[in-house]
Amino acid sequence: MLTRVYGTAFTKNAELDEYLVYLEDIKKRDHNKLGREMELFTTVDVIGQGLPLLMPKGTKMIQTLQRWIEDEEERRGYVRTKTPLMAKSDLYKISGHWDHYKEGMFVLGDEKVDKEVFALRPMTCPFQYYVYKNSQKSYRDLPLRYGETSTLFRNEDSGEMHGLTRVRQFTISEGHLIVRPDQMDEEFKGCLDLARYCLKTLGVEDDVTYRLSKWDPNNTAKYIGTVDVWEETQDRIRKVLTELEIPFYEEEGEAAFYGPKVDIQAKNVYGKMDTMITVQWDALIAEQFDMYYVDQNGDKVRPYIIHRTSMGCYERTLAWLIEKYAGLFPTWLCPEQVRILPISEKYHEYAKKVKEELQNNNVLVTIDERAEKIGYKIREARLDRVPYMLVVGQKEEEDGVVSVRSRFLGDEGQKPLADFVDDICKEIRTKEIRKIEVVENN
Ligand SMILES: [Zn+2]
Repeated sequence: MLTRVYGTAFTKNAELDEYLVYLEDIKKRDHNKLGREMELFTTVDVIGQGLPLLMPKGTKMIQTLQRWIEDEEERRGYVRTKTPLMAKSDLYKISGHWDHYKEGMFVLGDEKVDKEVFALRPMTCPFQYYVYKNSQKSYRDLPLRYGETSTLFRNEDSGEMHGLTRVRQFTISEGHLIVRPDQMDEEFKGCLDLARYCLKTLGVEDDVTYRLSKWDPNNTAKYIGTVDVWEETQDRIRKVLTELEIPFYEEEGEAAFYGPKVDIQAKNVYGKMDTMITVQWDALIAEQFDMYYVDQNGDKVRPYIIHRTSMGCYERTLAWLIEKYAGLFPTWLCPEQVRILPISEKYHEYAKKVKEELQNNNVLVTIDERAEKIGYKIREARLDRVPYMLVVGQKEEEDGVVSVRSRFLGDEGQKPLADFVDDICKEIRTKEIRKIEVVENN
């Protein structure tokens, strides 16, 4: 028997059943559906397509990611910048965007009428170049690592818009490293190391593939620089990846116009590949912006630039995590980490005390004070994917304890409040990804 579903052929009913279960699973995980159901984000027609509104819960998650990344980058020697969201057309004429990418930009004004025409930025690079150019740099000042939590705008087709992954405005963990040519291999490795640390912490390191994106040797007009520069750079990236024992594949025609790059990619629930993180090797742009440093002999030398993201685009990462975890995020990422469930109104005072203790320790906690049955409150908290529920009643108040239910183990029994606070703080601090060991049916 041959059955067809969406162009896929099945020879057995069992295979069809399996495929239908798989489709159901996809529907449950699709961030564009689940992210809205969980009130992480929404879109509104009058605001526009590709312009998602992050709701309080989604905003909390992105704030958690952003604080983590910014702190981690600073630990790794980055300094932070905050540069304008728009610039005059003059800047994009130097960068080449005005000639090559104008269609993809939101341009404010008309060159024929207005004295100055502005455009919303599609990238951060030239802004950070001018931060570098603010004063003369010596060889001793390098490497310089600039990081920025950067909001960008790209005017893409309405038909291309999808949830949090295809958007017109997004925020990325952007950065540019200005380095001496002799520092390039080490710094490039450092960027890959940071990217891998991010992926590992998010629990997605096994879900990605590494692509060495090369130029197209049959269409060299698309790029700046000579054959020699391109071949040498690609060899050096190959060597770096090999030394780090990172498995990778190569693809021609995927490089940036100024250099080859490593793209770290992941599939969404529908199997479509998205670039999550990118690390780009640029030996050429410094010339265009007249960037230099002064070497030991007092000569002016062009630096190299690494364009990179540490965790990529926050909206896209959120979408990825929704699909990866089907909304059951690791505790440290949850917008609501604990919900306190008093058995009746009599215990609201104790519930507030528990809440205060958790809040003082930066745990995200709420109380369900509704006059509902405890079984109902537990079921709702589970449906809301809250990792910890604390049931409090007479016995808990008398003994200064909490009855812990988690979505990892189910009933975890009673714990002194101080112990629970210690345990959850450690879980959050270490960004632990607790395994779900007991599956409870709702
Ligand atoms: Zn850049």
